[in-house]
Amino acid sequence: MKILISSCLLGEDVRYDGNNSSIAFTPSFTFSIKELFMDILCENEIYSFCPEVAGGLPIPRTPSEIVKNDKPFIIKNEKGDDVTINFLLGAKKALDICIEENIKVALLKSKSPSCGNKQIYDGTFTSKLIEGQGLTARLLEENGVKVFNENEIKDLDKFIKTNK
Ligand code: SF4
Repeated sequence: MKILISSCLLGEDVRYDGNNSSIAFTPSFTFSIKELFMDILCENEIYSFCPEVAGGLPIPRTPSEIVKNDKPFIIKNEKGDDVTINFLLGAKKALDICIEENIKVALLKSKSPSCGNKQIYDGTFTSKLIEGQGLTARLLEENGVKVFNENEIKDLDKFIKTNK
């Protein structure tokens, strides 16, 4: 199966702080989850993608949050710069790849204003989480791509096995 995966989860240094969120090297993930993740990588066709970099933002970059989470969306970075266009462009490029390559499932980084599938920060830069989706996760799900986060690897595995 073809799977779109947040580049940072694969160990690429694309995060706002120039680091990654590698599942393989994060101590809080159990050995069995890491093993399952590695099996998924080996047995499927992986498309690594970072919407924020694809949308033209640099590495490192000032962290951003969604300050208005419905249309028209507004995303600002911590300095107050409006980066909405970059986030929209990154989301559109992610969807374009999914359509072009017929990708029906994605594993995206939780809590990100682009990739988060269940929670995002509330736009006040005070580390407060609220229910909501990042722009890319939202656009993919609106267009029929099933999105999991890194804490849902077992669910992703079940989805792959059920939909092979
Ligand atoms: Fe990772 Fe997504 Fe943020 Fe890129 S936009 S660093 S892939 S969470």
